[in-house]
Amino acid sequence: MPSKNVVIIGAGVAGLTTELLLSERSGYRIIVAAKHMPGDYDIEYASPWAGANYMPVSVSGTQAAEWDKKTWARLLDLALNRPEAGIHIQGASFLVQILLYHGCLLIIRKECEIYSRSQDKGSATADWFSELLAPNPWFKEIIPNFRSIPKDKLSPGVDAGTGFTSVCINTALYLPWLVSECLKNGFRFTRADFKHVLDARSVGDQLGDSIDLIVNCTGLMASRLGGVEDKSVVPVRGQIVVVRNDAGEMVGISGTDDGGDEVCYVMTRAAGGGTVLGGSYQKGNWDSQVDPSLAVRIMKRAVELCPSLTGGKGIGHLDIIRHGVGLRPIREGGTRVEKERIGNTWVVHNYGAGGAGYQSSFGCAQDAVDLVKEALHTTAKL
Ligand code: FAD
Repeated sequence: MPSKNVVIIGAGVAGLTTELLLSERSGYRIIVAAKHMPGDYDIEYASPWAGANYMPVSVSGTQAAEWDKKTWARLLDLALNRPEAGIHIQGASFLVQILLYHGCLLIIRKECEIYSRSQDKGSATADWFSELLAPNPWFKEIIPNFRSIPKDKLSPGVDAGTGFTSVCINTALYLPWLVSECLKNGFRFTRADFKHVLDARSVGDQLGDSIDLIVNCTGLMASRLGGVEDKSVVPVRGQIVVVRNDAGEMVGISGTDDGGDEVCYVMTRAAGGGTVLGGSYQKGNWDSQVDPSLAVRIMKRAVELCPSLTGGKGIGHLDIIRHGVGLRPIREGGTRVEKERIGNTWVVHNYGAGGAGYQSSFGCAQDAVDLVKEALHTTAKL
């Protein structure tokens, strides 16, 4: 059967993971066309701003939980076997087991911990984190070393806490690694800024043939792309500070005393990627500019939650690499992984992952790839 020509719009984690999984199947010639590519930092491009870690917020029994479940196995495999992808394991006891197994020396990082305060109940951030904060979340079955933290080990003001092994992704390494894997498999990349989703058919020229199917991985901009214009996708603004200090641990908490749309988390990226201090969860806010007073609050909260960052000293001892703002592409009803016939062209959508684009990436991409196959099979019969 002749190869099918597929264009993927978008080079964020959704587009690149979909491309990676398509590249593992034969029968496709693929080109990724995107306004922004790895290496760019822009308010319309969420992926570089993410921490990014694996802390599932999906609710038990949902499609989103299935996507997260499938993704864990792939991320863990990359962390263990592909160090060049820029993912490390956050969890000492799990690493000790691996160390003993491989008989080699790795850097040991503490388990990931998440804390809960009763006073945050009902806030936007505590609602967002409700499964993550639960004493018996669905993911305890798949993540190593899940445990409740004894009350006497919790800081004052914290009512409950759990710990588990996780991973942290250095997005500055991981996104280019995904590109490299796809280049190695013979796929192409081009810059483009489409007004309408069907304009993507124009890149068929670069493959010397017409396009059989379009995959739409435009994230937040799916809200503005002609032919899609999905108004249920909205930004949730996340402001961060990236520092050189290494916390040695990955921590988060259900809320802050500074308002329901501010959050506090600390995660150190793999391979010298710095430590990301977050943050905010400001729904409907498109502002790309750093708010300096929010930046100070983020740093104060981070050193309080995680004194090891500065050896118990104040924010003056944080060594800042950069401040940043990214917009999580959140969609009412969850990520859209669907196929749709637009005009006489099949479009497979994979957008709207909100604050979970990395931790659900392989699950969503796998379903998108299945839909590509299904749609092209249908076309063959038309
Ligand atoms: P994007 O990365 O935004 O990519 C969209 C792509 O589409 C870009 O290449 C863009 O140029 C292209 N595009 C858009 N419109 C057009 C057009 N018209 N023509 C051509 N190209 C177009 N997730 C986690 O799993 N774990 C975390 O710890 C985490 N932390 C986060 C922290 C912050 C501060 C933020 C902002 C996000 C965080 N996320 C996290 C969420 C994650 O970053 C997103 O879910 C994910 O990056 C979305 O990826 P995407 O590929 O769908 O969209």
